[in-house]
Amino acid sequence: MTGTVHVRMYNVGFGDAFLVTVSRAGGTWRMLVDCGVHNQGQARPIRDSVRAIIADLRAASADGVPRLDVVVATHRHADHVSGFAVDDWEEVEVGEVWLPYVADDDDPDAQALRHPEAAHRLLGLIGRRTHGMAADEWPAEIAAAHAFALNSLGNAHAMDRLLARNGQHFATTPPVRFLPEKADPDNPIELPGVGAAVHVLGPTRDARQLRRMSPPTHAGWLDLALDVPLPDDGAATPLFDPIFEVADPSRLPASLEQTRRSLRLHQLTNDAGLLAAASILERAVNNTSLFLVLDVAGTRLVFPGDAQYGPWEHVLATKRALIADAAFYKVGHHGSHNATPKEFVEDVWREGGHAMVPYGLVERWKDTIPKRELLEALHTHRHNVTRADAPQAGPDVTVGEDGLWSEVVLTTR
Ligand SMILES: [Zn+2]
Repeated sequence: MTGTVHVRMYNVGFGDAFLVTVSRAGGTWRMLVDCGVHNQGQARPIRDSVRAIIADLRAASADGVPRLDVVVATHRHADHVSGFAVDDWEEVEVGEVWLPYVADDDDPDAQALRHPEAAHRLLGLIGRRTHGMAADEWPAEIAAAHAFALNSLGNAHAMDRLLARNGQHFATTPPVRFLPEKADPDNPIELPGVGAAVHVLGPTRDARQLRRMSPPTHAGWLDLALDVPLPDDGAATPLFDPIFEVADPSRLPASLEQTRRSLRLHQLTNDAGLLAAASILERAVNNTSLFLVLDVAGTRLVFPGDAQYGPWEHVLATKRALIADAAFYKVGHHGSHNATPKEFVEDVWREGGHAMVPYGLVERWKDTIPKRELLEALHTHRHNVTRADAPQAGPDVTVGEDGLWSEVVLTTR
């Protein structure tokens, strides 16, 4: 018995939209992992991508009704969920929605994180700082902080659709699973009809792990300064609740350490501090990503969302066997420096797999994302790298018309 797994990456721009189709044992199972784009990095209107996804589902359906077994939203950033605001989703029958447990308003662990509240407060502060200024007069740091805060707010309509609230819905009203499940977090989810399973490796419920927002210098391609004209990315420690604290306070410059004692969020008005706060919030939300491994008879596909160092450290320490021989890796956080541990690429992942990079140009990050050293390391280890913005057809890789999507096909036992 053999099967196939198709992974189709839609070229939304700077954002994720992956359609995964497992065909095996006479059955077919379809999952969409994320659908969103960053408001500054769109390759095309997100509605066009949504319509393309739905047209593909319709074409694959025996009765012409577009259908997905599972819709996954890895985390609430706009570049992963904004597409679910598009009303065309009302045509699509969905079996289940999978969200990280932090999206569950009734979960006490989730309430403790308070990410949306922090994003709103930041936007309020930015609004005060920019009062009376034209947008093109905003300092670069403030514009960057604003983009982060907006991305962290996600998209209310999109979340409403995923949660079947406030009149937003799919063609069906699918049950929502908040993962990992508290009762049995290590248990894989069996997929009916195709003899496959999904392992949920994150987000962790361990608060100490969730606090690890940024990699120590030996663990990543760190010279990026993605968002940081600051001497140290722990600069915003005073803000928010303890979840946002840096692990190692000794990395803070003395002046900031002093500031830390006197600052309160409602008093924060300096631009560098606002940006640091926004970037810490960005990381915090990334680390709430659903981290999934799809296992089809031993062919494994790794979908880490945008998980950064803390969750990866946990996975590398405890679930290494599940990712070491992966056939496919969805490159985390659009190829940034801090979402793919060097250890994974250099030491853990066996050679000759497929990597897909959901990337589109965002002018501000054009020199830093995707991280050149990461792409080179993937090539050095003989992985086939497909970029959404410049896909190349090859063995096991096809490219759709107008570069609308690219697709990897894996053969399984
Ligand atoms: Zn993202």
